[in-house]
Amino acid sequence: MIQLIDKFRREHRLTAGEYKQLLLCRDADTLEYLRMQAQEVTFGRFGNEVFIRGLIEIGNQCHNNCYYCGIRIGNRSLPRYELSREMILDCCREGYRLGFRTFVLQGGESSSMTNEWIEEIVSAIHGEFPDCAITLSLGEKFRDAYERFFRAGANRYLLRHETYNKEHYRLLHPAVMSYDKRLQCLYRLKKIGYQTGTGMMVGSPGQTVDHLVEDVLFIEQFRPEMIGIGPFIPHHDTPFASYPAGSVEMTLRLLSIFRLMHPAALIPATTALATLVADGRERGIQAGANVVMPNLSPTEQREKYSLYDNKASFGAEAAEGLRQLAERLNAIGYKISNSRGDYEAARNE
Ligand code: SF4
Repeated sequence: MIQLIDKFRREHRLTAGEYKQLLLCRDADTLEYLRMQAQEVTFGRFGNEVFIRGLIEIGNQCHNNCYYCGIRIGNRSLPRYELSREMILDCCREGYRLGFRTFVLQGGESSSMTNEWIEEIVSAIHGEFPDCAITLSLGEKFRDAYERFFRAGANRYLLRHETYNKEHYRLLHPAVMSYDKRLQCLYRLKKIGYQTGTGMMVGSPGQTVDHLVEDVLFIEQFRPEMIGIGPFIPHHDTPFASYPAGSVEMTLRLLSIFRLMHPAALIPATTALATLVADGRERGIQAGANVVMPNLSPTEQREKYSLYDNKASFGAEAAEGLRQLAERLNAIGYKISNSRGDYEAARNE
């Protein structure tokens, strides 16, 4: 297995069978070796710097009904909100003051947030903060909309594929949602020129190791600039309420695999990881992650962006807790970077 990991580090790819071997490995020393290789590769590429992104959850309305998601339309007990243009700009102003140079606008797919409105917000943020990167995470749109947001100043787009297996996709989503459309959107985003992020939940209901191998092979060939993975965490108001959370250990293992596969990728230590275990963020960084996304949303709305139960959005997960985050990163030998942390810049270093 050690030789296999060495080969992976050198060549950045494995066969499906070899990925499966890594995913099924139970030997603690081998897994520690994998983690150390990933940490070394990250360090060689980015030093001990971790990029920060200010996450602004702009609205929790969504017309979709993904079975794992707490803000799905079928959850009638959740109070809904939508931030105004001015509130979003205020979040950016506060974020800029704190040192953020990337803003991530995240929200459900809602017809009340029209494409014109989104375009206008992106343009306003770009106009006021021309030195900042703008990342969108607003779901599936037509090509025209993605192009308009891009022209208005958006640079990056996050859209998790969630699973590359069609039957598994059907298990996680209602029949009206389309696996093909999700993938089509991802290819569109790349073609337009976005730094594109994708990824999946680890341990989602019905997920098998073979599904994970399919996800890994997809990410190998798609070459996303950003890779977002976190453990599945159930939400009490969803059909998956009684399912167990995904494995932290498997999430960390996959982070290391993706780091060895795509050394220049921007890989967050996700909030879901930090929610499940107290030192999840630190362990994510030590496994090969190089991004954290503290929450910049107005504090009174944070609990309503309830994707899963007990989602962390305060303390070191919050923008105002940046000092706490810096201290925790310092304790493991890392520091916050104040740069935008673009993919191209990282690759050319
Ligand atoms: S996962 Fe995204 S698209 Fe699905 S219901 Fe939740 S917010 Fe909507």
